[in-house]
Amino acid sequence: MRAITAAARLIIRHVHLRKRCKIQTATGKGRACQRHIGFISMAETQAIPMNTLHEEFGLTLMVNHACNLRCSYCYTGAKFSSPMAWKTGEAAIGRALHSLAPGGRLGLGFFGGEPLLEAGRILEWMAFARAETAKTGKRVCFHLTTNGTITSAEAWQAMLADDLILAVSCDGSPRMHNRHRRDAQGGGSAAQVEATLRRLVGSEMFFTVVFVVRPDNLDEVPEGLKYLHALGVRQVDLSLDLWTTWSAGDGERLQQLIQRAAELWRGWLPDFGLSWFDSKAGALARVPVEEASTRCGFGSGEIAVAPSGNLYPCERLIGEDAPGQPMRLPGHVLEGSDFLTQAPATFARHEACTQCALLTACDTTCRCSNFVRTGDQNRPDGLLCLLNKATAVAAAKVLANGAIA
Ligand code: SF4
Ligand code: SF4
Repeated sequence: MRAITAAARLIIRHVHLRKRCKIQTATGKGRACQRHIGFISMAETQAIPMNTLHEEFGLTLMVNHACNLRCSYCYTGAKFSSPMAWKTGEAAIGRALHSLAPGGRLGLGFFGGEPLLEAGRILEWMAFARAETAKTGKRVCFHLTTNGTITSAEAWQAMLADDLILAVSCDGSPRMHNRHRRDAQGGGSAAQVEATLRRLVGSEMFFTVVFVVRPDNLDEVPEGLKYLHALGVRQVDLSLDLWTTWSAGDGERLQQLIQRAAELWRGWLPDFGLSWFDSKAGALARVPVEEASTRCGFGSGEIAVAPSGNLYPCERLIGEDAPGQPMRLPGHVLEGSDFLTQAPATFARHEACTQCALLTACDTTCRCSNFVRTGDQNRPDGLLCLLNKATAVAAAKVLANGAIA
């Protein structure tokens, strides 16, 4: 128990290192935005009744389908120029603010394509959201994930904004990164991304690297983590490619990677965070985290808007926003004054999970991930289950005795 308490202190300290977050916690101290730190809810997600104002609202604007890269595993579909009109973003922000209770907080994200191709417009929407929340006594924080290759003055102004939580995509060492993350002419993007990461490290701002883990790079991920750590990166989100096929053998190699990654995480604590274990350790150690789920409202308390103004429960499901896109929600962003009439999201634990000892530490409440893997928002597949079990076991070993083997 003493070991767990000590580990919990480490995690809390780690959270406090994320100096850009200004959100109040159950302990009365600053904590990071839930999206940012990857903490999961320790309670079952509750459906919020229709027409109830939200304490938290997550709005993501897909600002363009265009991108300067052509990553081989990209799941967002064809790349075509479709910049979101100012009034579309303005209307979405207005509706989201009208969906917030007094003093509530808007989490406003920008997604693409490559969102920083629209950096100028993003700065305008950020200024608008700040002004509107200041007028109404509400709050706003921003988040954006970039491919790290857009270096205009406006892009840097957005990336370095005090109230923006930044994530940069980088798949490890240049050799690993360039395998999939190439431009339209086939050129690798690693050199540009490394330059961006070095400048961010030099600025001393907090940021996250999103590192895609696939069957073809499983064995190299530890090398990639060491590369990022040596660059000065201090937070990595290891993100499984859910859109590809994982064999049983890949699952075994994933388990081996999880053990190796936990060893690295333990060695670099408390100044390094790895999403797989931060969230599990927080849940297992019962670190008090105020429940404020904007992470997966899935249409209720969370909305994604396509450049066309079409509505989706999650930005990952917009794709090309083509007619017949299966998860599109009814309505259009220019029709209505709030988002309170969306039917509340329902979530039921899959029957096979109800007796699982890891239930409270399992993050398969992400309905989008479940949907991508099984076509059912409530049902995770074996890959998600394996990830949750193996990361929980590895984190628990670190918490219990500091040993991995
Ligand atoms: S940078 Fe992102 S949007 Fe662009 S091709 Fe790569 S994964 Fe797709
Ligand atoms: S670890 Fe697997 S069985 Fe347990 S709750 Fe998660 S998905 Fe269900």
